[in-house]
Amino acid sequence: MGVATFRMMGRPSYHMTPDELRRWGHAAVDWVADYLDTIEQHPVLTDVAPGQVRSWLPPSPPADPEPFDAVLADLDRVVVPATTHWQHPGFHAYFPANTSGPAILGDIVSSGLGTQGMLWQTGPACTEVETHVLDWMVEALGLPERFLSTGAGGGVIQDSASSATLCALLAARERALARTGVTIDRLTVYASTQAHSSLEKGARVAGLRPEQLRMIDVDDAFALRPDLLAAAVGADRADGRVPCLVMATIGTTSSLAVDPVPAIADIAEGAGMWLHVDGAMAGSAAVCPELRAMQAGFDRADSYVTDPHKWLFTTFDCSLFWVADRSALVGALSILPEYLRNQASESGQVIDYRDWHVPLGRRFRSLKLWFVLRWYGVEGLRHHVREHVRLARELADRIAADQRLELAAPPHLNLVCFRHADGEEATEALHRALNATGRVYLTHTRLAGRYVLRASVGAWTTEQRHVDALWRLVDELA
Ligand SMILES: *Cc1c(COP(=O)(O)O)cnc(C)c1O
Repeated sequence: MGVATFRMMGRPSYHMTPDELRRWGHAAVDWVADYLDTIEQHPVLTDVAPGQVRSWLPPSPPADPEPFDAVLADLDRVVVPATTHWQHPGFHAYFPANTSGPAILGDIVSSGLGTQGMLWQTGPACTEVETHVLDWMVEALGLPERFLSTGAGGGVIQDSASSATLCALLAARERALARTGVTIDRLTVYASTQAHSSLEKGARVAGLRPEQLRMIDVDDAFALRPDLLAAAVGADRADGRVPCLVMATIGTTSSLAVDPVPAIADIAEGAGMWLHVDGAMAGSAAVCPELRAMQAGFDRADSYVTDPHKWLFTTFDCSLFWVADRSALVGALSILPEYLRNQASESGQVIDYRDWHVPLGRRFRSLKLWFVLRWYGVEGLRHHVREHVRLARELADRIAADQRLELAAPPHLNLVCFRHADGEEATEALHRALNATGRVYLTHTRLAGRYVLRASVGAWTTEQRHVDALWRLVDELA
């Protein structure tokens, strides 16, 4: 259909009318509901070859409008067969990346509003719902009051924990430079050898060289050793360097190990360092009061990040970042060009979230978290997190009781790290055999140099029968 055809049909424009949106919107939601309803029929991992998806697509973009049912049909032809199904109940790889009905609907509404929430002025609801929901999350997760926006702190939704950690680094860098007057090459940053790679990437973006990053060794449970941290910080200070930031991790990526935050806080305070805590994965567990021991010492942290887009049923991207002193963050990131000046900002009574992260523009991300909190209630979130933890413990007990297998790290929360007792090759063979079934997908890591299988129990679709089935496969293939 060219322009002439559109005119002949008496259409005023090419846009989708609200009535057409209603029709196709219902069809698209039906498609998503059907996909989720039948997800178990697909193998978790696709066997698509590199380049295959592109070979299914025409070389040039459509010159003329296409019927929308043809677009929806291509989801089944092109997308589904080439998708790693993160919402599959047999998805035990990496970490969960949960979506959920209310989160999906929140994203639809966010798209419908199309708000650009860079300033309070450009989206008062976008700004204030976010501030409010982040204050709610302080309560829901049992976080210290210093992170509340009603005091000197506050929270913001970032696209990822990687971005949040970068912002912590930028704020810490500016604070250290302002306090000491040294040049940036004198700053040093610390974390354990098990810390997420986003710290290294963030340090690079923040203008630090690799040799300014100190990776501190861990104990038998893969937690940072504070004695080694204290020694490294002491040596750097004796050398005239300025320790700038230490990142503690509660729930490392490899094994969900928990760094001793109180001891790290002692060292951070002694050296005037920014203490950033990365709880991207494990932080969600804190909706359950009985799982909050890992948050000891949080009342001394300068910043904290956790990802509801992992284990709290809120579609990516929804990374929560709190600071105890928002002026340090805003001071590091605020730039005010003339075209963004406005009365509300100048009154000092509002939050302009553009100053809380790197990009200027921002979506109405809090809608999906708001919807999730209201759909599940905190009790509902607790119920599902507890269930995942229970299922993971059951699996860990079965592995520990089997002579052919051994646990490779203390099981924590929803993650079980294990290997074959016959060694490296047997573990890798078991891994290949499990994934080849198409019914489960596990990924690996290395702990103390050894190949380790990780079973993460956290897809929102995963129930008892799925973890039982995973165990039967391990039992059969070990
Ligand atoms: C997943 C993860 C990250 C990175 O999270 P993104 O939101 O994808 O950037 C960082 N740290 C830990 C501990 C993680 O588990």
